[in-house]
Amino acid sequence: MDLLEHQGKRYFAQYGVPVPPGETASDPSEAAAAAERIGFPVVIKAQVHVGGRGKAGGVRPAGNPEEAAAVADDILGMDIRGRTVGRVLIEEASEIAAEYYAGFTLDRSARMYLGMLSARGGVDIEEVAESDPDAIARLLIDPVDGLDEAAARSWAEAARLDTAATEGAVEILLRLYEAFTEGDADLVEVNPLILTPGGRVLALDAKVSLDASSRFRHPEYREYDATQPRDEREAAAHARGLQYVGLDGTVGVIANGAGLAMSTVDIVSQAGGAAANFLDIGGGADVDTMAAALEVINDDPGVKAIFINIFGGIILGDVVAQGILDALERVDMRSPIVLRLDGANAAQGLAMLEPVFSEMFTTAETMPAGALRAVELAGGGA
Ligand code: GDP
Ligand code: MN
Repeated sequence: MDLLEHQGKRYFAQYGVPVPPGETASDPSEAAAAAERIGFPVVIKAQVHVGGRGKAGGVRPAGNPEEAAAVADDILGMDIRGRTVGRVLIEEASEIAAEYYAGFTLDRSARMYLGMLSARGGVDIEEVAESDPDAIARLLIDPVDGLDEAAARSWAEAARLDTAATEGAVEILLRLYEAFTEGDADLVEVNPLILTPGGRVLALDAKVSLDASSRFRHPEYREYDATQPRDEREAAAHARGLQYVGLDGTVGVIANGAGLAMSTVDIVSQAGGAAANFLDIGGGADVDTMAAALEVINDDPGVKAIFINIFGGIILGDVVAQGILDALERVDMRSPIVLRLDGANAAQGLAMLEPVFSEMFTTAETMPAGALRAVELAGGGA
């Protein structure tokens, strides 16, 4: 569950992480009024669930009410990497002496928390991570021990933050760690964490991703639901009762069972392609489920080929075949389908489908062969 910057900053503030005073607005006059209350100069910032807003022109200063209204008017409605700006954050402008990066996330393989701190914030941290990995001081934190002041201090020193920033940074790291752990976040990130010429350290940006499974402990997190970016495909699939996760590739995947569906996504990658989705039809290979699955995948403009991968067990091959036959009557398919049908009653099922096999609907004997064929039909590698 990803928070917008202004939500992330409110979340930080609850844990005592200092952020600039600000308000949000969804129209220019509201923005100008907010700016007057805050005091000039202000910075007006697009509120979308993607980074890189600064580079895209979504973070701009304003020195008076007219300018604030004009800047807000420019930013509202802007498209930033596929997201339309519907709200802006108006904030007291900060003077910047230095820009740092600080973040906490999970290191699953180490089974520890991972803290990252760098004196080279403000720019793409991914770029720093690649070109100059030593510029990021990494700290593995045992969740049982937590992070104490001494560890935070030597970490700040290892990251070579300016000495003027050490005290403020240590304080923020401790509070940010608390926000990360107490709030059940998967990620908290501050880029930039700034040092002002006056010696204050504060969070100028906020990226927070909360673990949605912790909602039972945090009923207040429900307020974030309304602002979650919506994947229309997922909404349509869930409305039809399908286990579906949207992905970015070109091969639509239908499989029975979560394990087989995941393996199918993997094998499509191994074959040099990329899955457009994860879709588990479960034990329900009846006509309604199969038709719903084909409809959802057919409506996805990214899909160029479909790989149906079914292993008969609890559901039988002939039942699957009947489901596909009936579904094909109902759905006018755009993309070619490759079917791998194995397991119980597979031979009967394939015999039933024989009359409808064509260039647009072929079978493969094995899972790897099916994946290769589907990737080929989708136009090759990702
Ligand atoms: P992002 O591009 O989406 O990560 O948005 P940020 O909130 O990080 O803003 C991008 C950049 O704008 C920051 O790295 C700062 O350099 C600059 N910026 C943001 N707020 C202020 C401010 O109050 N004062 C100044 N001088 N620069 C700011
Ligand atoms: Mn940023």
